[in-house]
Amino acid sequence: TARGGVKRTALAERAGESCVLPREATIGVLGGGQLGRMFALAAARLGVKVLVLDPTDPAPAAVAAGQVKGSFRDEDAILEFAKKVDVLTVEIEHINTEALQKVAEAGADVQPTPRTLRIIQDKYAQKEHLREFGVPLPPYMRVGLSEESMKEVADTLGYPMMLKSRYLAYDGRGNYVVEDEEDFAAGVKALTENLDEDQKENGLYAEGWVPFVKELAVMVARGREGEVVTYPVVETHHKDSILSELECPANIPEETQKRAREVARLAVSKFEGAGVFGVELFLLQDGRVLLNEIAPRPHNSGHYTIEACVTSQYEQHVRAVLGWPLGDTSLTCGGSSMINILGEASGEEGAEIANNLIGRSLPVPGAYPHWYGKEGVKPGRKIGHITITGTSLLDAVSKKDRILGRKPSSEV
Ligand code: ATP
Ligand code: MG
Ligand code: MG
Repeated sequence: TARGGVKRTALAERAGESCVLPREATIGVLGGGQLGRMFALAAARLGVKVLVLDPTDPAPAAVAAGQVKGSFRDEDAILEFAKKVDVLTVEIEHINTEALQKVAEAGADVQPTPRTLRIIQDKYAQKEHLREFGVPLPPYMRVGLSEESMKEVADTLGYPMMLKSRYLAYDGRGNYVVEDEEDFAAGVKALTENLDEDQKENGLYAEGWVPFVKELAVMVARGREGEVVTYPVVETHHKDSILSELECPANIPEETQKRAREVARLAVSKFEGAGVFGVELFLLQDGRVLLNEIAPRPHNSGHYTIEACVTSQYEQHVRAVLGWPLGDTSLTCGGSSMINILGEASGEEGAEIANNLIGRSLPVPGAYPHWYGKEGVKPGRKIGHITITGTSLLDAVSKKDRILGRKPSSEV
């Protein structure tokens, strides 16, 4: 097909016969941050071209991808971008799904589907969708602005509760811990401050407080035929609601690992379209596993797969969207860990702190530093990460502690 119009040659139709040759396909990604960058690097190894749509000049992904400057929220930019690629995917869910729906209706190949992206980007709709299929979830409810609505929510969920923004949430920024009635009003005010009047009434929902003992995550890939594979269970640690450290496999009984993978598999199998999904989970004292949220794309808690698994989450996403057979998800080492490098200060000072961490990792065997090449360091900003592989979980955790300048852990 000529590149003039939206392509109608569905890769899916040909995928059954034989693999689409790498050089035949250009994958378009909405967003070109660090996830797009690692995706483009993985695609480059396979000879697959990537084009990213991102307003930053140059976007982090531009080291290995062509870039179209523009916003992944802008309808016109998305319509134009779709003409240049064979299959469209995302590195962020906060994109214009109406525009994606339009290009899909015009014949473009969007993976995962615009409908999946639309459901997942609304955290309340996501929960409603998952509940329908029996995925175990924390209690949750819609929050209206009327006194009656707030009273009903408080009576049902009790305090503390987690008030959440339905849309555009990330790094805990759309969340507010509500301790009591007064706090509830303050939380509603804080989270609806920047919303239009008509969005305010429908912008929030609340979750009952989950007294989790650990947070877990599972990367899941869904192929074009609906086949689903899961990665090992990781344990995640957060600092100010941002992933700060990770260990794999999670230090939990095998039976619990199995349960976590089953919950993640069930959840992802109930969405349409191909790609990698990150599933965040809560582990309760009694061994139950509840789903926190899903990301319809490669995920921070899957970075470790680049060095620690046979098929990285990024290669897996290439395979999934092109309709190739999905790759082996198993660990290639005894255990792995990861340090997220988050900006601790602004500018030069922040860059130096981050650099020192990388420097401390360089002599450590099995440590793989990543630097995202973003312009400027800011507090809380994701600057890079370090993956560590070890002969065992204990080995991977000890090396992580060494890099962080901690006393060796005796916990594992
Ligand atoms: P992300 O950057 O992962 O997209 P987010 O902004 O969408 O994050 P959540 O994942 O909903 O936010 O919540 C952030 C963190 O807040 C969770 O990882 C967990 O530590 C805590 N949290 C979320 N929901 C609850 C809950 N219902 N009860 C207790 N803690 C919670
Ligand atoms: Mg989220
Ligand atoms: Mg989250």
